[in-house]
Amino acid sequence: MPSLFSRTLQVAVLASGSKGNCTYIGDGHAGVLVDCGVSTKQILARMEELDLADAPIDGVLVTHEHSDHVGAARILSNKLQKKTGRRVPFYMSRGTASGLHPKVVPEGIETIEPGERFQVRHLSVDPFPVPHDTKEPVGYRVRSGGVWAGVVTDLGRSTRLVERKLRSLSVAVIEFNHDVEMLLGGTYPWPVKQRIRSSHGHLSNDQAAELLDAALDNSRIQHLVLAHLSERNNSPALALARAAAVLKKHGAVGEISLRLGDQKVPLPPARVAVSDW
Ligand SMILES: [Zn+2]
Ligand SMILES: [Zn+2]
Repeated sequence: MPSLFSRTLQVAVLASGSKGNCTYIGDGHAGVLVDCGVSTKQILARMEELDLADAPIDGVLVTHEHSDHVGAARILSNKLQKKTGRRVPFYMSRGTASGLHPKVVPEGIETIEPGERFQVRHLSVDPFPVPHDTKEPVGYRVRSGGVWAGVVTDLGRSTRLVERKLRSLSVAVIEFNHDVEMLLGGTYPWPVKQRIRSSHGHLSNDQAAELLDAALDNSRIQHLVLAHLSERNNSPALALARAAAVLKKHGAVGEISLRLGDQKVPLPPARVAVSDW
C-alpha cells in the first residue's frame, strides 16, 4: 500500500467505443469506475492485465442509461459485492436511474444531482450535465488531493460548462466520435446519421478539436485520451491528427501525452502525482 503522502492518480481507459465503455480512476487508496458498458468479466480481466487487480473500486459512476455505458451494471454489482463483502454504490442521476433497462438495474443505486459534488471515500466527484439524447446524462470529474481527472463522452455539442471542467483536468478522456465526411458518406441510415450529428448525439472530430482548443487555454492537461471513436465513421489516424494539430497550435506537443482509447485493448494508465493531501 503506498503512503498517503505519495499518491499517484491512475486513469485507465479499459474499453472505449460504441460497443462498450469503462474507465478506472483511482489513487491506490480509493477508486471508481466510470461506466460499465463491457462485461464484468472483461472489466476485471482488463484491470488485471494492467496490474490493477487489487485496485480499490469504491463506486461506479454511471454517465447515462445507454447500454454501452451501463450494460454490465447488475452483474458487476453482484460480483463486487461478493469480492468486497459490501455493497458498492452505483451513482447516477435520477433520470438515468429511471431510464435503465430493467435487466441491468444494479443493487445499491445512489442518485446524484448534476452540478452537486459528492464524496466517494476521500475522492471528490463532480457530475456535470452534458447534451445527449438520454434522460439526464452527465460527465464526471474525480479529484484526489489537488488533481482532477475526467471523462467527457457522449455529447452532441460542447458547452461553456464542459470547457470549464476540461480546463481543470490533469487527465482528460474526451470523445472524438466521428469524421463528418465519413459519417455522411457511410452506410448508416439517414435517421441514424442525423441522430449522431445532432446537438444531442456525439462529438465529431471537428467539434472535439474545437472544444480541446478552447479548453487548452490555461489548462492543466497532462494526459489526453481520445475516446468513443466510431469504428465505421472514424479512423484513429484522423482523430489523432486533429488532436495533434490542436496541441501543436498550443505549443503542447511533447508536453501532453496523446493516446487513443480502444474497444478491445485496455490502455495502460495515465499517472499523475497527487499533491495537497
Ligand atoms: Zn456511448
Ligand atoms: Zn450514449
